[in-house]
Amino acid sequence: MATTTSKAAKSSTATPTLTGIGVGRGSAVGSVVKLAAAAKAPVDEPAAADTAAADALVRSSFQYVATNLRVRAAAAQAATAAVLEATSLMAQDPGLIADVERRIKAGTGPATAVDQAVEGFCKILEASGPYLAERVTDLRDVRDRIVAHVLGVPEPGLPELRKPTIVVATDLAPADTASLDLEHVVGIVTELGGPTSHTAIIAAQLDLPCLVRVDGAMTLAEDATIAIDAAHGTVVVDPDDTLREAILSRAKARAALKTATGGAGRTKGGQSVQLLANIGAVEDAERAAKEDVEGVGLFRTEVLFLDAATAPTVADQVTAYTKVFKAFGDRKVVVRTLDAGADKPLAFAPSEEEENPALGVRGLRMDRRFPQLLDDQLEAIAQAAKATTAKVWVMAPMVSTVHEARAFVQRVRSHGLPVAGMMVEVPAAALRARHMMDIVDFASIGTNDLTQYAMATDRMAGELAELLDPWQPAVLDLIAAAGAAGKAVGKPVGVCGEAARDPLLALVLVGLGITSLSMAPAGVPAVRFALSRTDIETCEAMAAAARNAEDAAAGRAAVEKLVDPEVLLAL
Ligand code: PEP
Ligand code: MG
Repeated sequence: MATTTSKAAKSSTATPTLTGIGVGRGSAVGSVVKLAAAAKAPVDEPAAADTAAADALVRSSFQYVATNLRVRAAAAQAATAAVLEATSLMAQDPGLIADVERRIKAGTGPATAVDQAVEGFCKILEASGPYLAERVTDLRDVRDRIVAHVLGVPEPGLPELRKPTIVVATDLAPADTASLDLEHVVGIVTELGGPTSHTAIIAAQLDLPCLVRVDGAMTLAEDATIAIDAAHGTVVVDPDDTLREAILSRAKARAALKTATGGAGRTKGGQSVQLLANIGAVEDAERAAKEDVEGVGLFRTEVLFLDAATAPTVADQVTAYTKVFKAFGDRKVVVRTLDAGADKPLAFAPSEEEENPALGVRGLRMDRRFPQLLDDQLEAIAQAAKATTAKVWVMAPMVSTVHEARAFVQRVRSHGLPVAGMMVEVPAAALRARHMMDIVDFASIGTNDLTQYAMATDRMAGELAELLDPWQPAVLDLIAAAGAAGKAVGKPVGVCGEAARDPLLALVLVGLGITSLSMAPAGVPAVRFALSRTDIETCEAMAAAARNAEDAAAGRAAVEKLVDPEVLLAL
């Protein structure tokens, strides 16, 4: 979902004022509106004269904020709703409320007690790894709303908007993002946040141009006119007419793409490249099935069970998978077995304390500890597949060796499922793809993890974003090895990581022998358009140019020179 960017504003005629990391490829021009700062607990807040009354005030403030978030969740779309629900749960945490009450009893003022208790929880989250650390913003947002209630002042947020607005904030909490007035908000710029923060996830879902990690964003003047360009990670203050025109015509061209081409993905010469959707929740599936996609290239099944305390039963899984398969009629659905561990912890498949969870027991490796989980899941997939007409393919995450690939294929077949594949996310799997492709029916490259492992860069580390770029020639070399292996044995090799959603990179991938591209459905029209304007020979020339480049930025620049100019305009 997030695109790591070069720092040069290639499409602008003005010097970028600020730079950051773009989410997606959108661009917009609008007026700066900064998110109102939250009220702080007074430094010298006195102890509560009546601790029982203070407890009651704090409890009712927690309850009010929790209910309000739940009501907003009910009115929001799936991914936003899930984020708001999770934030609402934070505002109902009995441990947190008890901590506040303890502090009030000890003589701390009520607003200060809320502040201190929440900060204590934030420290625990920050120490629990990057995934939980990114939830700290959500928890601080809950605190700000509760403190506002305790103090009897308005909750933080945006004023009423009247013109095209770019919201600028230190960071956005889910509640802020979910309540954006989409009639007027045309973009988002934040100083903090990372490519995997909620701001980024929700902006991608809303298809709003967005930049995160923009140093100095809060120095932008209120009401200043700015042009933002997520494709290049730039913010320009007071853009000249040429830049405005360029940005607005790009936005128009992008919107027109949605209707310009449709149907199955094909290169200019007619070579098929399947365009598929990445899905997680059942609601995602139902929404994605209505889009012009050829099926599902990645069904992240662990997303269904992120909140489950105990392992889902076979019956529960059959219900969920049946709904997903049914939604896609007779199209293809590639189901990934549970990818638990590291950034996706599941309570019912707990990890031991590990120094490096991303290098530990995760994905298929969990089968060493919890073999029943995989058998139950395969059984449920098989039953749901039997009850529906979708073409169900199954693949495992984090396969590293030929032995693992063989054992997985046998397990899948033993449950009567005919098509078994593997993800290529570990460099070892890409390097040994030629051997593995003899065993599996297909492969799908997870460029998010493949990039993290190839570049030895934690995928949650916003600070190292330029290393975590699938345009890195080393990553492309690994993809090339997998693509060539697929070609040699005549079996499909797709890409289902975020790289597939970058239209220029998608062309490079096809040139490397990739046969399908799976992404968030909002990304499909731009990729379909880029493919329709590029023949396979040009894709191959692009792939060679990108691999021959010294670094990611040079590779991208070389590919931009080879692409049909209309494609560049539409990016
Ligand atoms: C990937 O690693 O690229 C991938 C598709 O899997 P996930 O993002 O779910 O780890
Ligand atoms: Mg992965």
